[in-house]
Amino acid sequence: MNLYSLKMRASRRGEHVSGAEKIIEQKDIKSYADSLIMRSLHHAKGQADFINIKIASVDETDILYLDALSVKKIDVRDAAEGRLEIIRFLQRLGMTQPERIMELFEETYSMRGAMLLDVHSLERLEPDKARGIRATFMDMERQTGKQAKPEDTKNHFMEALVLATKVANAPGIIGEICISDDPDYVTGYVASKQEGYVRITRVKEAGSPLGGRIFLYDGSRDDIRKTIDFLERQHVLVRNTGDFQVTGERVNEHKLDFIDRELTHLQKQNLYRTVRDIETMQTSHVLYQGKDMLMLASNSYLDIISSREVRNYASLILQEYGAGSGGSRLTTGNTVIHRELERALARFKGTEDAIVFNTGYVANLATVSSLAGRGNVIFSDALNHASLIDGCRLSGAKIVVYAHNDMEDLEAKIRENMPCSGLIVSDAVFSMDGDILKLPRFVELGNQYNLITMIDEAHSTGVIGKSGRGISEYFNYSCEKPDIIMGTLSKAIGSEGGFVCAAQKIVSYLMNKARGYIFSTSLSPVTMAASYKALQIIEEHPIIVQRLQENVHIFCECLNRFGIEAESETAIIPILIGDEKKAVLCQERLMEQGYYISAIRYPTVKRGEARLRVALMASHTEEELNGAARAIAEAVSYVRGKSI
Ligand code: PMP
Repeated sequence: MNLYSLKMRASRRGEHVSGAEKIIEQKDIKSYADSLIMRSLHHAKGQADFINIKIASVDETDILYLDALSVKKIDVRDAAEGRLEIIRFLQRLGMTQPERIMELFEETYSMRGAMLLDVHSLERLEPDKARGIRATFMDMERQTGKQAKPEDTKNHFMEALVLATKVANAPGIIGEICISDDPDYVTGYVASKQEGYVRITRVKEAGSPLGGRIFLYDGSRDDIRKTIDFLERQHVLVRNTGDFQVTGERVNEHKLDFIDRELTHLQKQNLYRTVRDIETMQTSHVLYQGKDMLMLASNSYLDIISSREVRNYASLILQEYGAGSGGSRLTTGNTVIHRELERALARFKGTEDAIVFNTGYVANLATVSSLAGRGNVIFSDALNHASLIDGCRLSGAKIVVYAHNDMEDLEAKIRENMPCSGLIVSDAVFSMDGDILKLPRFVELGNQYNLITMIDEAHSTGVIGKSGRGISEYFNYSCEKPDIIMGTLSKAIGSEGGFVCAAQKIVSYLMNKARGYIFSTSLSPVTMAASYKALQIIEEHPIIVQRLQENVHIFCECLNRFGIEAESETAIIPILIGDEKKAVLCQERLMEQGYYISAIRYPTVKRGEARLRVALMASHTEEELNGAARAIAEAVSYVRGKSI
């Protein structure tokens, strides 16, 4: 889409009359500009004698999409009652001096922009006090293809909702108060992410030209610039404003209409997902749409899914035990096979005991949320897997995100939050970048500050360390083990499930507290048996792991030779493309050539950091790797040169 920002400011004898801004398609520039000019020339405040219009193109990838705040209305009888509602709002935000804030509000009457107020010291933080802070570069998202309707340039409510949504999402901003300076507009609003946009029907006397705006800031002094940059530079389009009429009432729409809206939005953003039906077993070659493809996207790193030994053993157990487990582990869903696998896992990782969950996702969700809760703090790496993030959210603990694999930042954040109790959680091998956690310092910090350490070994188990035992072996057991070693049975082990290896008392605690373990039917004995046999194969034949490690080395060298920068010690090799559309195009091109590969996009990775994610297998041959690297290099240079 060809987007432009259009900003208009109009004045009369140096006094502000009207201002507006839009982010619109190129084809609509003229009609919007016309409409805004007419608005300035026929304004209730008088005919403008100076109109300034700025039009600039906007790169679509720079746009942040936000959902409109929810809208509420508080009916009050008079302005005094309206002001009381503002004070109540400030109290709900935890302000101890709301009256003082209302006094300070009067200082904003003479300002063009908003006051940025530190909620603790009540100091004003705007670099230029006369100008204030101007929230700008935002608009509501319009449906593409539809005839543009410049009459929305008159919609003050919508403009306010868009602005309030941007402000409420700015880093460090916890709330906003706004009273219009329009003498005829007596409605004001307060807004925050939690409460949404709260219209208060009367906050001043009719005819009063006194109005202003405060942004309430609750952040560190070092981050003020970030907040101002967000407010003044970040392009924002606010979605789902269509739910509200001009008055702020929700339009009567069908209860499922939001689904169409959301799916259309995903399609427009190149973020819509579908599944691909593979027609054979997952090994280094698969049949897809009747065509043989080299598999470069599977997490079955050791190609154990195809192991005949595993399949034979699983068939045997299937005949003996059947397909289901018949209950949760604590009722009837526990067999000798379940416990045997747990003992084998504990042995493999060198811990006292282990506990198996139904998936890796559930293992993280259940473990994190049962070990931390309200009053605790969880320190979480910025690139942690979604299942860890969701576990943190479910726990109700305070979540402190530290810079990716940055142990200095982790320590600084721990110190800022001391005294506290809780967890530090991290992927051992990061799932989208393939890099390795700095384990020794991670464990040291946990011990030094008395925090539980938890790592996710989904992509390190069976992959790193001489015999595939994971990250502790990779670091030659040079440090203590983390308290919780979580892993999956669904990747190198080629089956299904998640596990936690830990001290016996931690395992007992999880058995008694982890809801994902207690309230779900356990995996079937056949799945457990497949994992058990796979683990045995890895233990007895570390050569498979070494083959995988050799393949990683060979493949990175091939890519480098073809001009693609790549470096990895794990089975995950990311090839950064950036643009979402280009990444998908690259994937399609490679799929056409017989390479089954995945383009990874937002929200799995950050916007604008779309990538191909190659996952290698121990069974790929050198010739296959060389051919794949050549094809990837060709596809990448093709899409890089393309303007989309
Ligand atoms: N942790 C990480 C790092 C993962 O990559 C995944 C799977 N993508 C999981 C946990 C979840 O594991 P599972 O697929 O077994 O649910």
